[in-house]
Amino acid sequence: MAEKLSAVKGMNDIAPPVSAHWEWLEDTLRSLMRRYGYRNVRTPIVEPTALFIRGLGEVTDIVEKEMYSFEDRLNGEQLTLRPENTAGVVRAAVEHSMLYDGGKRLYYMGPMFRHERPQRGRYRQFHQFGAEALGFAGPDVDVELIVMACDLWAELGLEGIELEINSLGQPAERLAHRQALIGYLEEHADLLDEDARRRLHSNPLRILDTKNPAMQAMVNGAPHLMAFLGAESLDHFNRLRALLDAQGIAYRINPRLVRGMDYYNLSVFEFVTTQLGSQGTVCAGGRYDGLFEQIGGKAAPAVGWALGMERILELLKEQRRLPEPVAPDAYAVIPDVSALSVAMPLLRQLRAQGVSVAMHAGGAEGMGSMKSQFKKADASGARYALVFGAQELEQGMVAFKSLRGDRAAETGQQLQPLAEVAAWGPGLRGF
Ligand code: ATP
Ligand code: MG
Repeated sequence: MAEKLSAVKGMNDIAPPVSAHWEWLEDTLRSLMRRYGYRNVRTPIVEPTALFIRGLGEVTDIVEKEMYSFEDRLNGEQLTLRPENTAGVVRAAVEHSMLYDGGKRLYYMGPMFRHERPQRGRYRQFHQFGAEALGFAGPDVDVELIVMACDLWAELGLEGIELEINSLGQPAERLAHRQALIGYLEEHADLLDEDARRRLHSNPLRILDTKNPAMQAMVNGAPHLMAFLGAESLDHFNRLRALLDAQGIAYRINPRLVRGMDYYNLSVFEFVTTQLGSQGTVCAGGRYDGLFEQIGGKAAPAVGWALGMERILELLKEQRRLPEPVAPDAYAVIPDVSALSVAMPLLRQLRAQGVSVAMHAGGAEGMGSMKSQFKKADASGARYALVFGAQELEQGMVAFKSLRGDRAAETGQQLQPLAEVAAWGPGLRGF
């Protein structure tokens, strides 16, 4: 036997029955987007590496050490499997002049790739669902996006997801804060871990986000960016807060909230839960007014968020909110291969009526015993077995046998005329 192959570490297969949970979550998301007027955009999974270097920033974790980058063997192009999709969506918006007639509300979903240490809630291929509002300066649309996420938690039945917000101000304000921050961190150089020392001059803001307990007290005392914000930035933030307050959306201001990409300014936010261990951020986003220009487009304000589908599904599981598996309406029991030519077209007609029917499939040896067929029918969870017995077929009939019998009228077996198949749909779909 040839050597067995397995999936790449940190990359998962999603198969039944779990894939049904994914489809349900995707359906819920699509329905929500439709109601908020966000439309689907699909961009390639592979992008030029330069898009992420320019878009996300050279000294971000993602660009420094998490990207799957490679050279196209055939033409030498530098390519990368997308680690996130905001840069790709903005590239597409610029390339196709999507903002020529005003703002656009877009959403995407699909796999992203980051070379991280695999653990619960952290994978190398993971899936994001993202919503982006391009061409709007906010803060109204920032709040729209936040509220949309809150609606999602409610529709999924999720509890205990908390909103944290912050403002990153504008680049000049960040620069002034950055200098003050570096000064403070240098004063406490003895407390910095290796990671922090490495980031001291490249990305000091990110040090505030450290998970190292030994550094908590020190970073708690660091200068807050909020204190460096000018009137306009503060006004944007205060208007955002007022709109959240007006809708009764609870939040916590987290002055240490920063994001992993360089492109953010003004509003940033995260939805966090304590129920997923250390990977508690389920959705994160913010405003990125500089990104269009950074990747070579005409300046345009924009804001968006992305949620981690695996983490949402994990939380749904934790809170027992995942839907029950959906069983077929009926299972076709075919005692003998000779019945197939009658049964198969009839099942097709049922499916055209919206009935879901699983057909018993046999093999070279025939269809298998009635006992084994009924066992499979039962296991399928179907409400009815449709039995295509030779005797019944001769009389132009099929037997409906109730497998669930939760109502008196449904127990036992009834014969239904084949000629009336066109009227079976509602009864079989029923309930
Ligand atoms: P973290 O701090 O957890 O690494 P991040 O800041 O890198 O998160 P974003 O790039 O903002 O995350 O991505 C948005 C969301 O995508 C995250 O909040 C999280 O739910 C999810 N996510 C990010 N990286 C991964 C991963 N490697 N595996 C699974 N989900 C992820
Ligand atoms: Mg990360």
